[in-house]
Amino acid sequence: MKPVLVVGAGQLGLMMAAAGARFGIPVDRMDHVTGELVPGTSNLRLQMPLDEIEQRYDIITAELEHLGDTPLLNSVKATKSWCNGTAFEILPTREKQKEMLDELQVATAPWQFLSAEADLASAHETLGQKLVVKSIRDGYDGKGQWRPVADQAHDIPAEAFGGLIAESMVDFSREVSLVGARFANGEYYFFPLTENYHHEGILRYSLGPAPKTEALQAGAQAMLSAIMEHLDYVGVMAMECFQTEQGLIVNELAPRVHNSGHWTQAGSDYSQFDLHLSALTGAAVPHQPESFPVTVMLNLIGCEWNAEWQALPGIQCYWYGKERRDKRKLGHINLTAATAAELVKQCQNLMPYLDAEHKGFLEEAVALLSAS
Ligand code: AMP
Repeated sequence: MKPVLVVGAGQLGLMMAAAGARFGIPVDRMDHVTGELVPGTSNLRLQMPLDEIEQRYDIITAELEHLGDTPLLNSVKATKSWCNGTAFEILPTREKQKEMLDELQVATAPWQFLSAEADLASAHETLGQKLVVKSIRDGYDGKGQWRPVADQAHDIPAEAFGGLIAESMVDFSREVSLVGARFANGEYYFFPLTENYHHEGILRYSLGPAPKTEALQAGAQAMLSAIMEHLDYVGVMAMECFQTEQGLIVNELAPRVHNSGHWTQAGSDYSQFDLHLSALTGAAVPHQPESFPVTVMLNLIGCEWNAEWQALPGIQCYWYGKERRDKRKLGHINLTAATAAELVKQCQNLMPYLDAEHKGFLEEAVALLSAS
C-alpha cells in the first residue's frame, strides 16, 4: 500500500501514523510551514520535490484546516491526491462554514459578517446584547475571539474588522461533539456523542460516551451526515455542538480527526484515527464502533511531563514531544474502566500526580461521572 501523507506535523498526524502502523498503512507527515516531510512517527525532516511527492502519495490529507498558502502547499492542493478539496475550501473560513450550515438548515448560532466597526451596533440589535466575535480565519483554541457587550467598550482591534463574524451568545447546558466518518461508498460510521469541557477556549477534558445523550444521537448523526454528503466528504469529520433547550446547535466543524475524539483510542474497539485511515484508503471497517461504558480524556496543557503517569494502572498516556508553552496542548491521558465507579477510582489514583489546575479539571470530570 502506498503511504498516506498528512499535511501538518503535529500530534494528530503522529497518532494517525501510529494507527496506520497497526494495519500496514504507512503515514508520513509534512510540516505545513517549512514543507519538510517527516516520515512515519520519526522526527527526521526531509525535503522532497513536488513531482516525487505526487508519485509517492495517492492520498494526501491534513491534520489542520488553517493551512496557509505557501507555493508548495498550493501545488500539493492542486494534485489529484489531495482529498476533500471542497471541505478544506469551505470549512476553514467561518463565514463560509456558517453560510453552508444555514443553506443546509442545520441549526447554528445566528450570525452576521462584520465588515466595519459600525456593524457591531447593528449586530447587537439583531443578535443580542452579548456577542461572541470570531476571526473568520485562523482562530482555534479560543484565539481570535472577543465577547463584546452592547453599550460597553470592547477590545476588538480596529484592523480586525472586515475579517470577523459576530454570533449570538448561546445559552447552553453543555458542549458535546460528534465524530463520524463517511466512506466513498456512502456508508457512515459514528462514535457516540462526547461531552466536552472548555476553559479559556481550550478543551480540558472529555467524557465518552457522553452521559444522557441517547435521545440526541440520531439527530446529531443526521446533521453530520447531511454535511458530509453535501461536501462529498470522505474520512472523519468532527462536529462540535452546544446542547440547548431547543436541541443541538452546531458551533464548529473540523474536516479531520479531533481532540474530542481522542478518548476513542482507549474507549472504543477502534479509534477515530483507525476510522479516518480506513475511510481515506477504502479499507473495510467490520462494524459500527463499539465503545466501552465510559472513558475520560484529560488534556495535558502547558505542564511538565511526569514519568510516573505511565506507571499508574489503567492509564493510557500520550505525550506529543512538543516544546512546553503556556496553554499549549502537550499530551493527553485516557482513563477507561468497566464501570463509572471504577473509573472514578482510577481518576483519584491519578490526582496526586497532577498539578492543581489539571487536578481541578479531573475533579470536575469525576463529579460528572458520579452524577451520571
Ligand atoms: P470555538 O473556537 O468556536 O470552538 O470557541 C471556543 C469556545 O468558546 C467554545 O467551545 C465555547 O465554549 C465558546 N463559544 C464559542 N462560540 C460561542 C457562542 N456563540 N456562544 C457561547 N459560547 C461560545
